[in-house]
Amino acid sequence: AGRVRGDAGVTVFHAEMEEAIGRRHVLERELRHAVERGQLRLLYQPKIDLASGRVAGMEALVRWQHPELGLVSPAQFIPVAEDTGVIVAIGDWVMTEACRQTRIWHDAGHTDLVVAVNVSGRQFRVHDLTRRVRAAIDGAGLTPSCLEVEITESAVMSDVADAVRMLGEWRDMGASVAIDDFGTGYSSLGTLRQLPLSTLKIDQSFVRHMPDRAADRAVARTIVDLARALDLNVVAEGIETEEHAAVLRDLGCDLGQGYLYARPLPPADFLDFVSGRVPA
Ligand code: C2E
Ligand code: MG
Ligand code: MG
Ligand code: MG
Repeated sequence: AGRVRGDAGVTVFHAEMEEAIGRRHVLERELRHAVERGQLRLLYQPKIDLASGRVAGMEALVRWQHPELGLVSPAQFIPVAEDTGVIVAIGDWVMTEACRQTRIWHDAGHTDLVVAVNVSGRQFRVHDLTRRVRAAIDGAGLTPSCLEVEITESAVMSDVADAVRMLGEWRDMGASVAIDDFGTGYSSLGTLRQLPLSTLKIDQSFVRHMPDRAADRAVARTIVDLARALDLNVVAEGIETEEHAAVLRDLGCDLGQGYLYARPLPPADFLDFVSGRVPA
């Protein structure tokens, strides 16, 4: 009986493996055409000034709407895009579209909005990324100070020399740079001090349990203090409750984003939000 069960278990395991590998192939194949077929969308999550409640800007978050696969999350397809190199085309599209949309909102009178765009590790290594970013900004008729690039701590720390050069190019251009998911990587303070940064983003894993875990509160406080010492702005992500917001405000965190204020929104809903047509 044991053997029969064992064999059945192996069969199921193989089937799951094949399914996973099959799905991966389908994603790879379909992703190659996603940009040209117009299947990518951007959602915008408001960034709130915790002291005033004002909308300071928004983070562009990509979605892939596939006719058969449905809505695919970036956690699933960005790694595939990185492995296959499609991330370059996707990155160009995201940057261009985020700048185009931001220009529309500026023209509608929301001239202070800063748009944050995520750049992944592999994308970061594309040699002419700065030129591509500049082309997107100029193409939309924006000024570089309206753009913030978000790059994860682990991507920066995996090649510090590269990061110092790249971040320096963006700073010289006039765009700002935020370190995303901060606290999950392994930054040395010496390295951090060398980087031409504007913002640290406290990873949502620390925010989530902050009310009841003293250790997570301590990490958040340390990041806020570090940002102060280095003269950087600090943003918290994943704010879901009033309690999260209150703790962060008391710590002196500048900006926050999370479901408490708004989920990532389609452009029309974001405009409603920022115009105060829907309650925060
Ligand atoms: P991220 O940049 O750290 O973005 C934050 C993620 O947290 C987003 O997930 C957002 O929808 C989610 N989030 C926001 N508020 C809350 C909250 O209150 N609670 C919880 N539980 N989650 C919240 P999303 O949109 O699925 O994106 C996941 C990751 O995919 C992003 O993490 C980013 O690393 C990557 N990504 C998204 N868009 C792009 C893009 O255009 N290019 C690149 N290279 N990566 C992207
Ligand atoms: Mg981000
Ligand atoms: Mg993050
Ligand atoms: Mg994250």
